Amino acid sequence: MASKKDYYEVLGVSKNATDEEIKRAFRVLAKKYHPDVNKEPGAAEKFKEIGEAYQVLSDKTKRSQYDQYGHAAFEGANGGGAGFDMGDIDLDDIISNIFGGGFHDFSSFGGFGRSSSRSQNRARRGEDLLMKMRLTFDEAVNGCKKDIRVTVTENCSKCHGKGGTGERTCPTCGGRGIIREEARSIFGIIQTQKTCPECEGAGKIYEEYCSECHGTGQIKENKTLTITVPAGIDTGNQLRLSGKGGAGVNGGPNGDIYLEFEVAEHKYFERQDDDIYLEVPITITDAILGCKKEIPTLTGNGYIEIKPGTQNYTKLKLKGKGIKGLNSKVPGDMYVVVNVIIPTKLSKTQRELLEELRNTDLENEPEFKDFKRSLR
Ligand SMILES: [Zn+2]
Ligand SMILES: [Zn+2]
Repeated sequence: MASKKDYYEVLGVSKNATDEEIKRAFRVLAKKYHPDVNKEPGAAEKFKEIGEAYQVLSDKTKRSQYDQYGHAAFEGANGGGAGFDMGDIDLDDIISNIFGGGFHDFSSFGGFGRSSSRSQNRARRGEDLLMKMRLTFDEAVNGCKKDIRVTVTENCSKCHGKGGTGERTCPTCGGRGIIREEARSIFGIIQTQKTCPECEGAGKIYEEYCSECHGTGQIKENKTLTITVPAGIDTGNQLRLSGKGGAGVNGGPNGDIYLEFEVAEHKYFERQDDDIYLEVPITITDAILGCKKEIPTLTGNGYIEIKPGTQNYTKLKLKGKGIKGLNSKVPGDMYVVVNVIIPTKLSKTQRELLEELRNTDLENEPEFKDFKRSLR
């Protein structure tokens, strides 16, 4: 499981830290807590935390998602939220990425973001977003319209996502987006690859950078989307808002927004899949003599017939009066569960009437005869 510590605290940087500050803090801490160097208990755990924090904060998109949603941004999307799977951080992987192997770009270890120079200019799909939405029982059953606030990356309208004008291959890295460096360290000479500082990994530079997006080609925007929530939503249902996620890069398609619903319980109705249950209290006399009883249904009040001699917890089925689920062809059923209430406060008259009733023979049912036979 992902750790729940604040990533900024883990790296000891402020919320406004620059990418360079984050990278520096990470390098210092990673060396300090590397399990080969630091044998103190808890060092490995700490090292893992640092790696996780860096993975998120070093990636612009992940970082903004984390700023907005906290750890919830990376929690299980159940196949829905592609691109959100933090998974478990593989410690060995991090170690070999930082200190072994020789060739590695610090800014992209662990598989997030731009992982190799060859993919710099490739079309990439935009980020998916997972959002949770709470609905009342009625909103879920009947459908509704809801506004959501989202921060999405969009292609800059000024430069149409290009980042600038007069594009040419970066002379520093020759278009590869990365440069190699050799550095002396406590582990000996290590050869690393790092993101080209001139083009910041893009492999290309512009005569004139776009003033709106500062060359990134993308801008963040807060947007309000009005969502039509279809009728029949249940807790755990997801709705995909196709193409409403982050903007694609280099002509790639936009990501999606996944809305996951949580439906509040109703005061009286209990939902089980497409069926609903309603407990209805009735008096002993109504149970014995039968009655017509007014009850609420999903579509307004209605009447059910309680037959004479109705036993406690009898379940009456009202076919098709349940919920039409999101993926169901026909609505479910409604079940009325009869709850016979034994009176505990009697008036004088009621008591007298009941005493009189007791003196009649009420033990005609087979259950009483059976029970009598059990006595020795
Ligand atoms: Zn370059
Ligand atoms: Zn622009």
